Amino acid sequence: MRQPQIFVTQPLAPEASKVGARMQGILSRHQFTNFGPLHNELESELAARIAVGHFSLWNNGTNALMGALSQLDLSGQVIVTPFTFPATVQTIAMLGLEPVFADIDPETLTLSPESARDRTSAKTSAVIGTHIYGTQCDTDALWQLRDETGMRVIYDGAHSLGQEQPYFNTREGVLGDVTMLSFHATKLLHTVEGGGLLTYDSELHRRFVRARNFGFEAEDAPSGLALNGKLSEVHAAIGLEVLPLVEHEIECRSSLAREYSNLLSEMPGLKIQSGLGASKQYFVVRIKETEFGASRDDVWSDLRAHGYMARRYFYPLCSDIPGFTEFPFASDLPVARAAVQECLALPFYGRLDRSHLQSVAEIIAARHRT
Ligand SMILES: *Cc1c(COP(=O)(O)O)cnc(C)c1O
Repeated sequence: MRQPQIFVTQPLAPEASKVGARMQGILSRHQFTNFGPLHNELESELAARIAVGHFSLWNNGTNALMGALSQLDLSGQVIVTPFTFPATVQTIAMLGLEPVFADIDPETLTLSPESARDRTSAKTSAVIGTHIYGTQCDTDALWQLRDETGMRVIYDGAHSLGQEQPYFNTREGVLGDVTMLSFHATKLLHTVEGGGLLTYDSELHRRFVRARNFGFEAEDAPSGLALNGKLSEVHAAIGLEVLPLVEHEIECRSSLAREYSNLLSEMPGLKIQSGLGASKQYFVVRIKETEFGASRDDVWSDLRAHGYMARRYFYPLCSDIPGFTEFPFASDLPVARAAVQECLALPFYGRLDRSHLQSVAEIIAARHRT
């Protein structure tokens, strides 16, 4: 008998009656988008929750990142990690800039500042790092690189929000010039589709806000590069009802993470990469084939055969995406190339029944012994 499929995550779903009441309000106001009251309420609530920098709400993380890049006066080359979601690299290429790949740190799997420095040239105008599974990049080292070279520093913080405390401390440079957030349904805090930008720079914030609305600063006065980055009232309604569920979800995931780590602790060659600390977006294990006795892909296919749809986050490397293989240093990324064969995100969400954790651990252990 085949088990039902268990996915790596399950989006938080608010009560239908609460969403219904919000919808009724939208219908009676006849305002569905363009910075309505729900959009504005959600934007202020999120800004208060994040509590650093200037925050703007967008209709997805990818548009937010593209909007941000369009406002930073970039040219030539942008250094980027290959170990990320395709959008990080695609937005660079979409703006006609050249992505230059730099390698990652073997422990944190975030962009290596040393490799970024080595691959900086006179053509470099920015560097983009991704906070992997909520583990922050070396923001101090990258801010120093900005001081030395004048390049912009940008973070893909799609995995950053979550956990109990405000995630971003207020140390200089921790947001870089700008940090992108995602509120996609697969993220812990979601608005179905949604995204955001955070910056300490009030002038940049003003430009970002203009860029998400066709460049309009006033009626009939558009300017410069811009796009449609507006979040609708319907999305904001769901977001406002998801928000109060987040704290409890984080508690549930924290206890799941502890349970997973107990179950998986005695396996040489298997390491918990993320889930105990950081943002609670993903629970990721790393499998070293020679020590463990089987590859990550062996474990991945065993789990799938039992209905557990574990995910190889991130896979493939962005430097192996067709169309991106000719960008500089695409074939010179030894650390990232090893990591991309080792990481596996296990099913991880508050409503996941404990019995599944036991089964997942047994399937992994069976591979370990064979
Ligand atoms: C989810 C994700 C994105 C894309 O965000 P969207 O809101 O879906 O556009 C970008 N980068 C990373 C690292 C992500 O996990």
